[in-house]
Amino acid sequence: MSSNKKDSHRFFHGGIRMNLFNVLLITIGMILGAELIYSTYQTQNAFGSVFSITDNYLASQQTTGMLDSLSAGMLKEVRGFMEDGDPGHVFAYEGQRGALNAQLAATQELRTRNQKIEANQHLENALTSFWEMDQAEIYAMRLVADTLRVPLTAYPDFLQTVIVAEEDQSLSAEAKKEKALSMISSEKFQEAKAHMDSEIDINHRLISEESKSEADHHQKIVQEVVTRQKILIFLVILIAFLALIANRVLMIHPIQQAIHILDTKEKLPVQGSYEFRRLAKAYNMLLVDNEKKQRALSFTASHDALTGVLNRSAFEAAYQDCKNDANSGLMIVDIDHFKTFNDQYGHDLGDKVLIRVAQTIQKHFREDDVLCRIGGDEFVILFSNTDRSQADFFTEKIDNINKELSRGTEDIPPISLSAGLAFRHQITANGPDLFKCADIALLNIKEHGRAACAVYQDQMKGEKG
Ligand code: GH3
Ligand code: MG
Repeated sequence: MSSNKKDSHRFFHGGIRMNLFNVLLITIGMILGAELIYSTYQTQNAFGSVFSITDNYLASQQTTGMLDSLSAGMLKEVRGFMEDGDPGHVFAYEGQRGALNAQLAATQELRTRNQKIEANQHLENALTSFWEMDQAEIYAMRLVADTLRVPLTAYPDFLQTVIVAEEDQSLSAEAKKEKALSMISSEKFQEAKAHMDSEIDINHRLISEESKSEADHHQKIVQEVVTRQKILIFLVILIAFLALIANRVLMIHPIQQAIHILDTKEKLPVQGSYEFRRLAKAYNMLLVDNEKKQRALSFTASHDALTGVLNRSAFEAAYQDCKNDANSGLMIVDIDHFKTFNDQYGHDLGDKVLIRVAQTIQKHFREDDVLCRIGGDEFVILFSNTDRSQADFFTEKIDNINKELSRGTEDIPPISLSAGLAFRHQITANGPDLFKCADIALLNIKEHGRAACAVYQDQMKGEKG
């Protein structure tokens, strides 16, 4: 259970997934865009309807106005024709009739489209009555034309094509005139006129009411859609702003910081998007791992694998460093008869001895004293802040170490060490260097009984020479 929890923790890196976030933003953007296109289409439709209703209103007003004035004007021409027989009245009648037909043709499409509007139905009713009166008037004019001496061909076509009923053909000129007059003043004619007028009135009343309510309805739709569009545009701007901020916080800022930090070889801050956090964590792990390996590598390069103390190359660097230190000192320590020991007890036990010697030396000297194994059974200790006055102090330490090593342990038989010690201030310009001096002292003690520390003296040089 707890290991499961640990595993899930290892895979949870926090942060928003840029990939998902982008898909989400694009999807929302597309939905908002589609909604904007749809609402624009709705606005266009609503405006189209308002324009159509306004056009219909104007056309209807115009047509009914024409019907009103033309019916009176045309009747006047009929009466005029009856009175003076001037064919000009018939042509004037034709002109007014033509004007109405032109108006009807121009508004045909509009009337068909809006035929469901109740007011338009009353307009059609008014037209029907108008054409009824028109038919009566034309027939009346035809009868009158028959009584005149003017040939029929002198009249407009519409009058020529009227077929006179058989019973009317045989009527006298006077009777024809009488019939013509009765036709335009008959009850039926008056009814048609009254019907047309009332239908026009109803049309006038309804057209303004219906147009207003239709216009209000579509205006309301336009207002709603425009409000929706405002919200949509605000959302689009908000989404764009969010995308900008998110992009900065989740990607650009962490990347810029990372580029800056990469040069310093420090850990990357775990921040920003999920993807970047993963990247930063992976990089940080590699960095720690690399640092550990580097440390291990440099430890291996500078330390002796067997004893763990500094090795020869580390000693050489330290020796160079202390060259300018006038208060430095150097001691070479060498195990006595170690070759014989190895031969007698074996190499493995010899290794154990080397470890014990390193540990014992470290135990007896200060932490500041630098202990190195420079090869085989040979160790060097570098001292700082020292001079010959401390010689006894150091030789005493070697005596103490030898005392300890002479006791041996359960595993390790007793051994002894010889040491040669020299101090920087003993060095002369043309004489041997510090290491050489310590080596001379070591050689001296090896030749004079071993198991002790010899301090370099100028005579030793003479002795050796
Ligand atoms: P002396 O008292 O004169 O120093 O005699 P010695 O036998 O110790 O002579 P020397 O110091 O020249 O011998 C060094 C010996 O150390 C030789 C070799 O057998 C042994 N030796 C060198 N390196 C190792 C090692 O890593 N492990 C073991 N067990 N022995 C080593
Ligand atoms: Mg030795």
